[in-house]
Amino acid sequence: MYWWNLPNEFFAIVAGIFGAAIGSFLHVCIWRIPREESIVFPASCCPQCGNAIAWYDNIPLISWIFLGAKCRHCQASISIRYPIYELLTALFFMGIVYVYGIAYVTFFYLLIVCDLIVASGIDWDHYYIPDELSLPMIPLMIVVAAIAQWWGLFPTALVQRVDQAVLGVVVGGGAIWLIRIVGTWAFRQEAMGFGDVKLMAFMGGFLGWDEALLCIFLAAFFGSIVGVALKLTGKIEKYGHIPFGPYLALGAYCCLLYGPEIILWYTKPFQL
Ligand SMILES: [Zn+2]
Repeated sequence: MYWWNLPNEFFAIVAGIFGAAIGSFLHVCIWRIPREESIVFPASCCPQCGNAIAWYDNIPLISWIFLGAKCRHCQASISIRYPIYELLTALFFMGIVYVYGIAYVTFFYLLIVCDLIVASGIDWDHYYIPDELSLPMIPLMIVVAAIAQWWGLFPTALVQRVDQAVLGVVVGGGAIWLIRIVGTWAFRQEAMGFGDVKLMAFMGGFLGWDEALLCIFLAAFFGSIVGVALKLTGKIEKYGHIPFGPYLALGAYCCLLYGPEIILWYTKPFQL
């Protein structure tokens, strides 16, 4: 038996460990990109006392727990955001590797997951999605579709041909753009940011048109659950504005894992 014949569960655990470490870096990106700081330098240090964080205090999840969420030097509390992003990235990585196993497409989707986590985190904090995280991804999606079409490197990818990727970009971005126009007219205030249009155009490029529409539907579903929950708990005033990017990204992630199964399930009653 060769190592690549090990079950997906094994690789999913390995991916979870890598994911936690990468999540730590993604959190740095979420913090620094809107502040226009370098994401590489300087190395992490405590924002309170400025002491560099030693490697043994920088182990994802574990260090935060063992340090009791406090800086070793000055006892300043360390935000719960660190372990949250580390854990989320670990779980998202595990899901992709569990479903797709060890394949070229797995690494492509993990890259997308990283991009979406950073885009969602920034949208969550600052209500915008940087263009660097969406616009360059659109041509990349078309290039990857071309590689899938001509070299067959991604046999299990959702998008297999260039025309599928292009149609996905147009339908995904177009649908959000339409919602934006109609919503802005109906509610007399900006219904959806143009950042969401660009994000959804990029995501249509790896989802295809049908999964892109499912993604928007799922995002609206998740968003309304949170919206209703905020309303019921009376916290809607505190937030006022709910960024839609994280829900779109979560919808796209669900499509990557189970999109074809979901579409099959709800179209079944209509198939003869
Ligand atoms: Zn400190």
